[in-house]
Amino acid sequence: MLTEFGITFAYHRMVVHKAFEAHPVIKAITLALGSMAFQGPVLHWASVHTKHHAHSDQEGDPHSPTIGGFIHAHFEWLLEMNSASLNEVVDKWGGRYKKDRMIMWFSDTFLFWAVLSLIIPAVLGYMAGGWHGAWTGFLWGGLVRIFISSHVTWSVNSVCHFFGARTYTTTDKSRNNPVVGLLALGEGWHNNHHAFPASAFHGLAWWQLDVTGLSIALLEKLGLVKKVTRIPETLMTKRRIDSQSAALNVQELALTEEPVLEDA
Ligand SMILES: [Zn+2]
Ligand SMILES: [Zn+2]
Repeated sequence: MLTEFGITFAYHRMVVHKAFEAHPVIKAITLALGSMAFQGPVLHWASVHTKHHAHSDQEGDPHSPTIGGFIHAHFEWLLEMNSASLNEVVDKWGGRYKKDRMIMWFSDTFLFWAVLSLIIPAVLGYMAGGWHGAWTGFLWGGLVRIFISSHVTWSVNSVCHFFGARTYTTTDKSRNNPVVGLLALGEGWHNNHHAFPASAFHGLAWWQLDVTGLSIALLEKLGLVKKVTRIPETLMTKRRIDSQSAALNVQELALTEEPVLEDA
């Protein structure tokens, strides 16, 4: 949960989408947690995700079930990515992250945090039950934890562009999936997210549980997070698929030859 939170809160909403500004201590702790999720240095993750928003479900999207198929979007794209193609993505989409010294420091020290995330559960296990406990801790708190949290994050890229309801007009096929919404701490409300990428909250209806969003609101009350981006009700209504203006919007989009890109 903690390392997954590092991904949703820090890597995704804070770094890529600048949905809020966090106190430097909160920023550092959550970037460390995100690095411990074993999903790569924040600079790489953020660059790939920026490209995803720029080309969502179109040619150039690093992971789209529409373009490359479900398994490709889930994790095959990771296997295909070599360091040359990753460097290309970082060069093209990572410029603005390189200006942030803390982001760069956590990217440079990624391996330390990743290995630490295996050592901590092993040490806790050792303290509880000797060498057998150390192995149990390493297995469940390390390997199994990484396996499960990776599949949860990958499901946002695959499941949430394939299964679920669409509430808002977007140029991609993003969907709101309640199961991924729960498991990925709010990130499964992915149609909402593609409609309003800058929003600190992905759950936009009262029943759409968004643990990351609730944490942002709590930290804001405590004064540890500021400049929280909220989408005005009028804009949300305008973009609803069932509203008239949204129907017109779709017609306009269909008439546009160039894909309309959301601001990442
Ligand atoms: Zn997406
Ligand atoms: Zn995003």
